[in-house]
Amino acid sequence: MSITVLRVGHRPERDHRITTHVALVSRAFGADSISIWEKDEKIKKSIESVVKRWGGNFSVSFETYKQSFKKFNGISVHLTMYGLPFEDKIEEIQDLVFNQNKNLMIIVGAEKVPKEIYEFATYNLAVTGQPHSEISALALFLDRLHKGKEMKKEFNNAKLKIVPCEKGKNIIAVESEKSE
Ligand code: SAM
Repeated sequence: MSITVLRVGHRPERDHRITTHVALVSRAFGADSISIWEKDEKIKKSIESVVKRWGGNFSVSFETYKQSFKKFNGISVHLTMYGLPFEDKIEEIQDLVFNQNKNLMIIVGAEKVPKEIYEFATYNLAVTGQPHSEISALALFLDRLHKGKEMKKEFNNAKLKIVPCEKGKNIIAVESEKSE
């Protein structure tokens, strides 16, 4: 089972920061990869640098949504304010993903999303019926999917770790697991 986020509608000149944040949320909240429909090497580089320092196996790829749909095998959730309330379907999706081991693709847009996405998606789901943002919709969906357990996720091969503290910052360098 794997969880991938498909970012449609990315325009490198306008959406660089938001798509970077979509990727960071995907990684931090328990997805395994992101696929972006328009090439933007700067995003790939900056996310790879985060993975190198903070750990885990999160990956970034570029492909059109048609390519993604063609090779994907599993269930897909398109997050859209026009969909059904996501809280009504989340248990069904948890069962498919965690008990039946289905791969999950979560699709988020930027501006207007092509009509085929609504047709392709197994579920079109709304995180409230109000317009907000792909970042918040994705974060809330992933958090509910994992029932909040991703908060304690450990990232393997991390070089840096934060020691939570009441004030200030405490970051420690983690010794390599391979070193004696
Ligand atoms: N007007 C656009 C449309 O017709 O889809 C919405 C653009 S919105 C800025 C960008 C993305 O945020 C959407 O494609 C969707 O993935 C996500 N989004 C925004 N509000 C949402 C909501 N209430 N529920 C789920 N996803 C939402």
